[in-house]
Amino acid sequence: MKAIRIHRFGGPENLVLDEVPDPEPGPGQVVIDVGAAVLGHLDVDIMRGVSRLPFALPHVMGLEAVGRISALGPGVTGWAIGDRVLPSIIVTCGVCRFCRGGDDALCVDLRYQGKTFAERMVCEAAHLTRISMDLPDEQVVAVPTTFGTAWHMLFTRGNLRFGETVLINSVGSGIGSAAVQLAAGAGARVIGTASSDEKLAKAADLGMHHGINYRTESVVEQVRKLTGGLGADLVFEHVGGDSFRWGLESMATNGRMTICGAHSGEVVPVDLIELFRGQRSVIASFGYSKNEAARCLDLAARGAVRPVIHATYPLAEAAAAVTAMERRENFGRIALVMR
Ligand SMILES: [Zn+2]
Repeated sequence: MKAIRIHRFGGPENLVLDEVPDPEPGPGQVVIDVGAAVLGHLDVDIMRGVSRLPFALPHVMGLEAVGRISALGPGVTGWAIGDRVLPSIIVTCGVCRFCRGGDDALCVDLRYQGKTFAERMVCEAAHLTRISMDLPDEQVVAVPTTFGTAWHMLFTRGNLRFGETVLINSVGSGIGSAAVQLAAGAGARVIGTASSDEKLAKAADLGMHHGINYRTESVVEQVRKLTGGLGADLVFEHVGGDSFRWGLESMATNGRMTICGAHSGEVVPVDLIELFRGQRSVIASFGYSKNEAARCLDLAARGAVRPVIHATYPLAEAAAAVTAMERRENFGRIALVMR
């Protein structure tokens, strides 16, 4: 079969379309004919060798996919060849204190399944979700991580309530465009930032109430102006660097900020005096639970949220797809389609 592999860490030029042996399912595993996969920032980190996760080279790229079961390993029950399924990007132990508490992403024995940028992949049958909705593959696969992560940040960690004001950074990203829809749907007043007026217009179509172009306007000043000087009750921050800094300064007194990413700067200065005198909370958020992903898939199946796909590329053009994402050209997610 064909697969996108890296033989060394670096830029998109290292993504090679290789011919590799078909995967064989072990006990408790299935093989899936991949229909579509999506790109995420973690894929870029893995490609560049900065993910802080152990990957041996050569490595088949990709973390998220949807497809149909094409082979069953020994001992697999409850699944049949042809079933449309979505494998979890992580495999968890199911028995540690975090798994038992529903915090799947914090599992002490967590590992990534991945290897989805390929015609076929192998995965654990215990970590599959059955897909019965009519949406095309590239939209289905765009739901769990973007909407699940946004749900976890907004509601589970950020405790967003009806009528509150939320500042969502970088609404053009997959997770940003998901957060806009979830927050607006939950009755919050949504202020969003983006690098262009075009992206802001698209976010407005998804329910964003006020847009701030961070290349031409001061985010902190605009948030203060829009909130009568109070600031945002909740800041949704997934970018890092300057975005984290203006998020801190845009928080209301007694406000919260949930964070889950740092691609634009992993180490940032924080004014501790302002933080504690204003009783402001910075709340870390990691991943999402299977229950949160299931809720979001149900919302998408009912048309209550819309997974936003910027573009689809054939598997062979993975390098072009990653390049587009690294240039932040996208509004929504970029998918690879195998058919
Ligand atoms: Zn566990």
